[in-house]
Amino acid sequence: MTRLVVVGAAGKMGRAVTETAWGDAGFQVKACVDPAGRPPWAGDAKWEAGLGAVLARGDVAIEFGGPEAAAAAARACAECGAGLVSGSTGLSPAHEEAVRQASGEVAVLRAANFSLGILALRRALGAALAGLPGWDVEIVERHHRAKKDSPSGTALALAGDVAAARGLSASSLRHGRNGTAGPRPAGEIGLHAVRGGSWVGDHVVLLAGDGEWVELRHVAQDRSAFARGALAAAVFVSKAPPGLYHLEAAVMP
Ligand code: NAD
Repeated sequence: MTRLVVVGAAGKMGRAVTETAWGDAGFQVKACVDPAGRPPWAGDAKWEAGLGAVLARGDVAIEFGGPEAAAAAARACAECGAGLVSGSTGLSPAHEEAVRQASGEVAVLRAANFSLGILALRRALGAALAGLPGWDVEIVERHHRAKKDSPSGTALALAGDVAAARGLSASSLRHGRNGTAGPRPAGEIGLHAVRGGSWVGDHVVLLAGDGEWVELRHVAQDRSAFARGALAAAVFVSKAPPGLYHLEAAVMP
């Protein structure tokens, strides 16, 4: 049985992870951590405001509490000898560095998107790019109005895949195409973020050629898609030696 401490547990993803784990005999939710306090759906689950009081060697922390929570969880996991599954997006280089340092001590798996569908889309994108050199690439993502970072971590990961496949640098990313004049330069990767309503997550990669286009699209209908991936990652992390891992290692070894 994998022993979990859910960080950011009162939030939308924390709730999805906790409820999915409760429905699976392979997991024990040892504690929920969130400074926002215990929400009504949590029943009598053990609830803490901070991670330090509950984390022990052999636990796995699953973190969806935002960039500060990711860095704090990384430090706590490294100190206690607990594994870390980290899903927050919008991390600064300093937050990323805290996570990277922890991976020297314990197993850490970070993903901007824990859905299997996005993994498959990234693979399909690689094949499409190989067959369509020079086609224009535009990425459009839609999320709920409460999302704090934009563009999404997933959109940035997709843009990173395109840049790596084409040998482009980070300066090739064109956010929103606001105030630009003249025709679209070759070698640009367009990124467009749409915010509103309750969209869980929608990512479209458009590849446009002359007289034809291809669209690859992933839609997350509910957060259980991410929760299942995060739980698979927790099982992997509970057995893995220290290191920084990607989701592929857990679900497509
Ligand atoms: P949310 O706002 O609903 O929940 C965040 C929760 O974290 C809140 O309850 C808040 O009180 C808590 N929190 C804040 N600071 C904390 C701290 N220091 N320690 C512990 N808890 C803390 O947000 P959400 O929609 O659940 O998303 C959370 C994060 O996960 C975001 O960064 C989002 O982009 C990301 N996300 C990732 C994936 C993925 O698959 N990797 C999927 C969805 C969302």
